[in-house]
Amino acid sequence: MFFNKALRAGVQTGLRLQSSQAAASANVAPKASLGFSFELTEQQKEFQELARRFAREEIVPVAAAYDRSGEYPVPVINRAWELGLMNSHIGEDYGGMGLSIFDACLITEELAYGCTGVQTAIEANSLGQMPVIIAGNEAQKKKYLGRMTEEPLMCAYCVTEPGAGSDVAGLKTRAVKTGDDYVVNGQKMWITNGGKANWYFLLARTSVDPKCPTSKAFTGFIVDADTPGIQIGRKELNMGQRCSDTRGITFEDVRIPKENVLIGEGAGFKIAMGAFDKTRPPVAAGATGLAQRALDEATNYSLERKAFGVVIAEHQAVSFLLAEMALKVELARMAYQRSAWEVDMGRRNTYFASIAKAYAGDIANQVASDAVQVFGGNGFNSDYPVEKLMRDAKIYQIYEGTAQIQRLIIAREHLGKYKK
Ligand SMILES: Cc1cc2nc3c(=O)[nH]c(=O)nc-3n(C[C@H](O)[C@H](O)[C@H](O)COP(=O)(O)OP(=O)(O)OC[C@H]3O[C@@H](n4cnc5c(N)ncnc54)[C@H](O)[C@@H]3O)c2cc1C
Repeated sequence: MFFNKALRAGVQTGLRLQSSQAAASANVAPKASLGFSFELTEQQKEFQELARRFAREEIVPVAAAYDRSGEYPVPVINRAWELGLMNSHIGEDYGGMGLSIFDACLITEELAYGCTGVQTAIEANSLGQMPVIIAGNEAQKKKYLGRMTEEPLMCAYCVTEPGAGSDVAGLKTRAVKTGDDYVVNGQKMWITNGGKANWYFLLARTSVDPKCPTSKAFTGFIVDADTPGIQIGRKELNMGQRCSDTRGITFEDVRIPKENVLIGEGAGFKIAMGAFDKTRPPVAAGATGLAQRALDEATNYSLERKAFGVVIAEHQAVSFLLAEMALKVELARMAYQRSAWEVDMGRRNTYFASIAKAYAGDIANQVASDAVQVFGGNGFNSDYPVEKLMRDAKIYQIYEGTAQIQRLIIAREHLGKYKK
């Protein structure tokens, strides 16, 4: 069993072993398949299977308890790290596996099936790392990405503030150049992994000139979490994904060396927004994993529960509900896979990423709510798994750009193709 072999190997990761073994034996395709094909490579099937087994054997059994306690799932995260199911997009030069976004999405969908609180904690690492992956210099990548592959560390993406989320141009956190450092003051809010991160990607305003365009007014920094002046707020008590760690963070006269600026002063806005092209496909994959779980739970229940002398699956109203749920799950999967494939092919995927994120986020909510309906009164009760899914689903319409913001982006991209 490669799952056990991976565990026995005790190296950063089973997956890396599997990856090279599979590549050697199956002469597998490069990062993204060319042409039109729905067949996964042998290597991709192995990644998927490893993540699937891990989710079902090690996440599902503990998910309800973590949901109740709100405790950060350290042992689960450590095990995911050991198996190579985290940080999979960090390049081989920095100790990672350099998986494509498509391959990473396959893993994300499976982890989300187990618990999206766990998946969000893991995915927030990808979000924190992505600005460094796309814009970091060699020294920054070696230092900050390298350490993520040496031990199970977390990082975070610090952009949202109490007064500005969707309207990123409205951020108030200021960074002022003082000698060789930047001095940062301001407050961030809703930061996933905020209390667990070893370092942050931070977006701060460096220009106060009202004539400076938004695209040049902000700078992206890497900030060590133990830098003096950083105060971490309490863990927020959220509706769902309750084991994920969400916090406010205050920066008071925090000195960041100029070596930690990404690209250069004024480049931050584009970096912060550009990261989403690579992180929205996995968010959509997470929403799809949750929806698949809801569909599976509802289907199994409908084949056992009897009403009016037959199992409820035999009532057409229930079977059609399941058919609608299945339809949405399949289409969400195709949407995230398309958006991941586009960016792996080196093409601008903003349009597809927003379609996938918006659609998968919406259908996760619909499918989870329908699963509660199929369960009847039991669905409303926390002894059954689907009420958690319904609470967990909501955030997919909010974080990494709300459902409304995705539609703004889709409309802009769509109209842009028609305007002369
Ligand atoms: C659990 C959780 C985890 C998060 N993790 C992170 C993280 O790790 N890092 C980070 O930086 N942020 C994070 N966020 C923040 C998240 O990205 C923001 O909450 C989100 O972008 C929305 O911003 P807002 O909350 O300020 O809402 P607002 O921007 O105030 O929006 C309020 C409502 O108005 C709508 N709206 C706003 N502008 C428009 C418009 N132009 N057109 C139409 N509708 C509009 C929105 O869609 C929404 O429905 C997280 C949030 C939560 C709740």
